[in-house]
Parts: sequence; C-alpha cells; structure tokens
Amino acid sequence: MHTVIRGPAPGGLRAIREKYTPRWVQYYPTKTGRKPSDSKWQEFHRDVSSVFFGNCGYCEEDDKGEVDHFRPKSRFPERVYEWENWVFVCHACNHVKGGKWPAGGYVDPCAKSRNARPEAYFRFDTTTGEILPTPTLSAARQRRAKQMIADLRLNAYHHLKKRVAWLRVVNGALDGRDTNDPKARQFVKLVASRETWLSTITRTWLEEAGYMDDTN
Ligand SMILES: [Zn+2]
Repeated sequence: MHTVIRGPAPGGLRAIREKYTPRWVQYYPTKTGRKPSDSKWQEFHRDVSSVFFGNCGYCEEDDKGEVDHFRPKSRFPERVYEWENWVFVCHACNHVKGGKWPAGGYVDPCAKSRNARPEAYFRFDTTTGEILPTPTLSAARQRRAKQMIADLRLNAYHHLKKRVAWLRVVNGALDGRDTNDPKARQFVKLVASRETWLSTITRTWLEEAGYMDDTN
C-alpha cells in the first residue's frame, strides 16, 4: 500500500450523492424497508481506476477492478456516494473485505495526515514478499496494521508468489548494472513509478539494492 492522492470529485457526483444517499441512510443500519438497488458508484469506475492507475489500493496488483467503499455502506450509509470513501480495488481484496470494519478501522490509502498514511504503517520483506507492520508503531496502530493484513489477506500465498516473482524479474532486468547506467536508470524509473503495479515493494527492493535516489 502507498499513499494515493485522490484529487477533486468528478463532475456529476454531487447531484447523484444528493439524490441517492438518503435511501441508503434510511435503509441502514436497521435495514428498514427495501434495500436500495442503485449502484451508481459503478458509473465512476473509470474515475476511481485512473486515480489508482488501475492498481488495487490495498494489494497493488493490477486488475479490472471494482469501486470499494473504504468505510462500508452498511456502517456508514451517509458515505455511500462520497468520493473520499471510494477506493479502487481488485476483486479478491473487495471480496474478503466485504462489510468488515474493525474497531479503529483500516489504514486509508488516501489518508491526508502523514502519520495516518500507509507508509507510516507498513513495510515489506523483500525476501519473502510479506507486508508487515512497521515495528516502531504504537500498540494500537500495530493492531490496526495487523488487522488489515489479516482481514484483507494481504499475505496470502498468491500475493507473495506474485511479489517474489516480480522482484526476480526486476532483479533479472537490472542484471547487476551500475546505478548510473542510463538503461538501468530508465528501468528503475519505470518500475518505481506509482503507475506500475507493486511499486511499494519494488521501491523497497530498489532502495536495498542501492538503485533508488532522490530523482525516483
Ligand atoms: Zn487487491
């Protein structure tokens, strides 16, 4: 996970939010009446996807993707059409996250304050491919990070396999080239880009291998 700057809400969302939100607020949390059937957030799939460069906001894998309600609509129906509550996610992450919302919540990939951002909460083990809580976190923050990793199964075998395989590709492509080699620099820029999938573990690996500098 890494920080994603969401930018302003797309045009047209405000009218939709005003029109459709009350139905959800009325239905949840008591589930009174009929469940609203509108899912107009799907009409903003492309807007949400482009903010995240088509990479899942949680596991960073690229995917056709879906619009996730970071704070689930069952618990926060007033936020169902809130741009700030939408995260681009892969199908697997969306499926396991479902309506979960633990006490303390999850780490928001679009958090504004620096110490609430994913970079403050997580680090990567580039050997195993695991995402881990930053060791220096307070107990409460450590719990939030661990809960998120567990609930979203961010260390599931299929994730680890992809991360490790990708780092092998990166390693192979660089082939021990000098950090100043123009080809190496070009490649590093590409794979470290937030537009490229798995950029956070890749950046960690590049840092460890001495390929990252201030220009990346
Ligand atoms: Zn995902």
